[in-house]
Amino acid sequence: MASEASEIPGWPQRLDDAPAIIYVLDGALRIVYCNLAWNRFAEQNGGAHLCRDTQVGRDVLALTPEPLKPFYGQLFRSVLETGVASDWVYECSSDLQFRRFHMHVARKKPPNKPPMLFVMNSLVIEESIEESHRSPGSPFSFERFRDHNGLISMCCHCRRTRLRDKENSWVWVPELVRRMPLDVSHGICPVCFDLHYLK
Ligand SMILES: [Zn+2]
Repeated sequence: MASEASEIPGWPQRLDDAPAIIYVLDGALRIVYCNLAWNRFAEQNGGAHLCRDTQVGRDVLALTPEPLKPFYGQLFRSVLETGVASDWVYECSSDLQFRRFHMHVARKKPPNKPPMLFVMNSLVIEESIEESHRSPGSPFSFERFRDHNGLISMCCHCRRTRLRDKENSWVWVPELVRRMPLDVSHGICPVCFDLHYLK
């Protein structure tokens, strides 16, 4: 089935390549598009039967655990109605790994089309400023977010931060959102550029 997202110029390839798990919903909360990260996540977590080819056209709430349906239903409908983007951090651990994800939900209104919901799930990286100062070379250092000019790039729309050594990899760093260092430069991630500036 052709996805509606593939009709938006510039979207399909860039969304497919993004490390974040991205899906697009129509006004009835049906899945119209999932990117390749969705497939990778499904395969790595024993859900290969949930790959995107089988999910397009389904109600996203049918995939949501029963107790959480009212919460996500309300969140999605509220963004659809108001157009005000919403952010939410949730835990999604596997048997081997403690993981938290940041969900960014935004409305996209393509010309001459009904609004769609864009849902982007990025890995949360816990990083503390104290830890960063204590051991600047450690994996918990903000150094891995600094580019060759020493600047940390944060997307002004979704507020994710770019990882230095990974092309096009943007993650949610709660500490940088809570207490923004002075050397943060505001840019825009490729996904938000496509979402907000491509007509
Ligand atoms: Zn962004």
